[in-house]
Amino acid sequence: MLSVRGVRKAFGDHVVLDDLSLDVHAHQVVVLIGASGSGKSTLLRCIDLLEDVDDGVIELEGQDITDPRLDANAIRSRIGMVFQAYNLFPHLRVIDNVTLAPRLVHRTGREQAQAEALAVLERVGLAAKAQAFPDELSGGQQQRVAIARALVGKPAIMLLDEVTSALDPELVGEVLTLLAELKQTGLTMVVATHEMGFAREVADEVCFLHEGRVHERGTPEQVLGNPREERTREFLRRIT
Ligand code: ATP
Ligand code: MG
Repeated sequence: MLSVRGVRKAFGDHVVLDDLSLDVHAHQVVVLIGASGSGKSTLLRCIDLLEDVDDGVIELEGQDITDPRLDANAIRSRIGMVFQAYNLFPHLRVIDNVTLAPRLVHRTGREQAQAEALAVLERVGLAAKAQAFPDELSGGQQQRVAIARALVGKPAIMLLDEVTSALDPELVGEVLTLLAELKQTGLTMVVATHEMGFAREVADEVCFLHEGRVHERGTPEQVLGNPREERTREFLRRIT
């Protein structure tokens, strides 16, 4: 589904991703962990073509998406990206936040876009809030709208970057529960998170990023429960 091979990304002379490789299979949830600054967001941004890679290949469904001749917006519409800050448009109702991209990017007609938006809002448990404005929702609800907005284009893969870290602790659970439900529906996801409980329960594979590479990878039981690498042990000791 997604294959990242030998990717290098530097900002000036600061090498953030160094010959990094990662494979994600269809219906898999891969969780990225690692210290602050280890490159989790940069990796997701490279996959979503928000950053150019200096070297290496990123294949989505067999196509090298780093090819500069491709239309980045068309590629991006096959990827659902959700950020820490939900970035909803405050002046637009929930339903209009969700229909905006389909209407502008895919030229979907108004009625079809509304029907599709309501279906994804149903999926995230917020159909009843379709006519509300973002500031009438809790942080957790706003983040679920952002997830609905990413889902509406039926992306091949979802990339989620610390989607709970801006939330009050009591709101984290509802978003993580939603992600676990989406996994049950077969959605393919790459999730950067500091929530080790989520990684343990939902990840098919956990990848520990260190010094620009996937330093250790495996099942959550193995990487979190019985890490092989000293760096992984050190990281887990520090955060628990
Ligand atoms: P966190 O857990 O804090 O979110 P992260 O693993 O997501 O960290 P990144 O945000 O990918 O880390 O950052 C990796 C490194 O790249 C950091 O040292 C950061 O300062 C640097 N970096 C990221 N974006 C840029 C940029 N646009 N310009 C310069 N340096 C950058
Ligand atoms: Mg980050």
